[in-house]
Amino acid sequence: MYDFIVVGQGIAGSMLSWFLLKANQKILVIDEFNPSSASHIAGGVIKPITGKRFVKTWLADELIPLVEKTYREFEELFGDSFFHEALFLKIFESVKAQNDWSARCASPEYIAYLKNENIIDLDKEKVKNDFGTFEINGGSRLDSDKFLLHYRKYLEQKNMLLNEKFLFSELVVEKDLVSYKGEEATRIIFCEGAGAIQNPYFKFLPFQLAKGECLVVRIENFYPDRIINGEVLIMPMRKKNLYYIGATHEWSFDDALPSQKGKDELLGNLTAILNSPFEVVDHKGAIRPTVKDRRPFIGFHPENSNVGIFNGMGTKGISLAPYFAKHFTEHLLNGENLMKEVDIKRFL
Ligand SMILES: Cc1cc2nc3c(=O)[nH]c(=O)nc-3n(C[C@H](O)[C@H](O)[C@H](O)COP(=O)(O)OP(=O)(O)OC[C@H]3O[C@@H](n4cnc5c(N)ncnc54)[C@H](O)[C@@H]3O)c2cc1C
Repeated sequence: MYDFIVVGQGIAGSMLSWFLLKANQKILVIDEFNPSSASHIAGGVIKPITGKRFVKTWLADELIPLVEKTYREFEELFGDSFFHEALFLKIFESVKAQNDWSARCASPEYIAYLKNENIIDLDKEKVKNDFGTFEINGGSRLDSDKFLLHYRKYLEQKNMLLNEKFLFSELVVEKDLVSYKGEEATRIIFCEGAGAIQNPYFKFLPFQLAKGECLVVRIENFYPDRIINGEVLIMPMRKKNLYYIGATHEWSFDDALPSQKGKDELLGNLTAILNSPFEVVDHKGAIRPTVKDRRPFIGFHPENSNVGIFNGMGTKGISLAPYFAKHFTEHLLNGENLMKEVDIKRFL
């Protein structure tokens, strides 16, 4: 008998199952391995400042320390390195952008993330940056593919993983119990990412899915220690001279496959800032579980109180998932209130 069945081992299911395990819960994770899922192909970027107006990311001050603590804990457990502090350089688009940024720097709540003295000029033969660039402090990056593979192996070794497609026809939900192919648990929590639109229990939730595509390119003699943020993100990868270029946001699509349209958009945005020659070596696509009001979906079905959801991580799953997995676990096990902004009761 399990305490929880968790469906999905993307970043959401991984984090939730981990915080439950740390709280001594008995869990079973069911996940059909998909190396092209959103969590596997994500850039893994954790950024405290976002958008053209340089606004602090929602909950940045709380998220960032917990994110670092959590991923560092995994590095220790697995004896490998996949979480990296990152030097982010944002390219100014105009004089107005420079002024907006100066105004932000004057605000005490931004001091930790923006510093006037950190203006860095990039070599214009490599990158177009006519108005200069500025450094964002406090950013980091998770090699999410590497982390997920480690965590999957860990679950497998402990006999806590079923690698298969979850079939709703096999789920029996009773008042105090759920069972799936003979495995019984007190509760089941769905973390299927964009796959949730097939979930009959949560059809009432307003997902607004967004496809994302990214490229891997080879650039010789570029910046192996900086993430450069212009119209696209140029991010060094593990292998020498390879850079991750991301990402597109497409609201209307037929599938998760990489498309010519996505590739053209990425190449257009890349060549708008890159002066160095490059070669495309890979191209990927996946669907993000984005949500109309841009807040996660956490909670239980209104009639089936043992059927839950942990989803809606949108464009920021790598930083949101650890924080909200801990929050949800504290709600589940200690009865602490769920934050109203993320509780699915807001749609009932
Ligand atoms: C190109 C791109 C770049 C991105 N970059 C970033 C970034 O830099 N930083 C950031 O924070 N976020 C980024 N994101 C967003 C991030 O990837 C998502 O927020 C996050 O991955 C969502 O995680 P998830 O676990 O909810 O979903 P998923 O990653 O989709 O995982 C769901 C899992 O559930 C499994 N599953 C679903 N249905 C079933 C079923 N019926 N049976 C069995 N298994 C099932 C799937 O196989 C999968 O393993 C990016 C996304 C994309 C597409």
